[in-house]
Amino acid sequence: MKYEGNYTAMNRELLMQTVQMHMSEKRFKHVLGVEKTAVALAEKYGASPEKASIAALTHDYAKERPNDEFELVIKRDGFDLDLLNWNNAIWHGIVGADFVQRELGIDDQEILQAIRLHTTGAAEMSLLDKIIYVADFIEPGRDFPGVDKARELSLVDLDEAVRYETQHTLLHLLETKKAIYPETIETYNRWVAGK
Ligand code: GDP
Ligand code: FE
Ligand code: FE
Repeated sequence: MKYEGNYTAMNRELLMQTVQMHMSEKRFKHVLGVEKTAVALAEKYGASPEKASIAALTHDYAKERPNDEFELVIKRDGFDLDLLNWNNAIWHGIVGADFVQRELGIDDQEILQAIRLHTTGAAEMSLLDKIIYVADFIEPGRDFPGVDKARELSLVDLDEAVRYETQHTLLHLLETKKAIYPETIETYNRWVAGK
């Protein structure tokens, strides 16, 4: 499927159905919520709504793949082998973007980068990266203390929403004693600590 400059209702429908076949109903509903939110943010902040739609629909495409498939691709395709010490939470974006490229034929580098960064964020994020990162956090199906604050911020200042989300995620990881991926720390240093 090729989408550049020609993202019709028909190929959105095809993409949506392909994504749907790869995940639970619950996760697919989340994906549609992210899409709706990302398109609205794109319209508000002046990004491409088509790219926001494609990136949102595919951001969790690989999330239900078995671990051994990720491990195989990490070893085969020259990823940093330190990734083998992590898990699905980290793999499904960074490595998942390659599944999206190979299996769905999406070659747009801005879209692939937004997928790669959607879980950890990054010190440097494009407008589309921020939109997918934030939309994933605040889509209508999300329900946790602080989500309404994040939604409010996203309507006023997208960077403030990125900051809020980054701090919230790091706090959650610390509270649950999870290992912090280096990119997550870089995101925190740049966006929250202002380093
Ligand atoms: P989802 O795929 O829509 O559920 O959302 P995300 O892709 O944003 O997050 C997937 C999971 O990764 C969540 O449980 C996050 O808390 C977790 N996560 C985010 N950053 C890190 C990190 O640095 N380390 C670890 N261990 N988990 C992380
Ligand atoms: Fe995700
Ligand atoms: Fe998601």
